[in-house]
Amino acid sequence: MAKIILLVLGLLLAYWILKTYRRRVGRGDARPPAGAGEDMVKCARCGVHLPRSESLTTRGHFYCSPEHQREHRAG
Ligand SMILES: [Zn+2]
Repeated sequence: MAKIILLVLGLLLAYWILKTYRRRVGRGDARPPAGAGEDMVKCARCGVHLPRSESLTTRGHFYCSPEHQREHRAG
């Protein structure tokens, strides 16, 4: 009986180690969730706020879309 309990505990431990290891590997290359901890920037044309990763940047200005990027550069 004790052998079976040890076997089950061993399997659970192996499963737990595998799960923890996989989660750690997955976290390494996973993108941070949108909005959480990400910088918010403001469109220089219309003033809308959006995550930095979704914005377009030209000479320190941020834009929400290629149209606004073009319009703001044109004047
Ligand atoms: Zn805009």
